[in-house]
Amino acid sequence: MSDTIFTRIIRGEIPSHKVYEDEHVFAFLDIGPLSKGHTLVVPKEPAVQLDQLSDAAAAAVGRVLPRLCRAIMQATHCTAYNILQNNGALAHQAVMHVHFHIIPRFDQTMESGLHLAWKPGKLDPRQGTELAHRIAAALATS
Ligand code: 5GP
Repeated sequence: MSDTIFTRIIRGEIPSHKVYEDEHVFAFLDIGPLSKGHTLVVPKEPAVQLDQLSDAAAAAVGRVLPRLCRAIMQATHCTAYNILQNNGALAHQAVMHVHFHIIPRFDQTMESGLHLAWKPGKLDPRQGTELAHRIAAALATS
């Protein structure tokens, strides 16, 4: 994988507003925040998508995410937030290096920030049974 802007930020070649760093994880403020405190949490391992991340790097991110959320809540006084994690251009991933967004929520206005169009379908029970089996079978061999 070629260097992304995040690899260069992690290396310190490009400045960022860093909020956290350990051996495996680097977190910094998003340059185009959807709300105050919008933070990016990036594993140093340069995987493109979450499904390509090693268990060790994933565990390192998972270990620190709740702590980062608590710190952002304390610093911004938000009580609600979204964790957003885009994989692939179709899912709006722009930087091809795994990252988690922590996006504080302060109100419901549509002027700025994160807008989710949540349009649920209905799970067909037969299709659900078949699909759950296929996913479980894939897990058993991965
Ligand atoms: P994605 O759409 O890939 O999930 O989100 C990429 C995020 O990275 C965007 O929210 C964008 O604002 C942020 N970003 C892109 N380039 C830079 C940069 O150079 N510095 C910082 N701090 N954030 C960046």
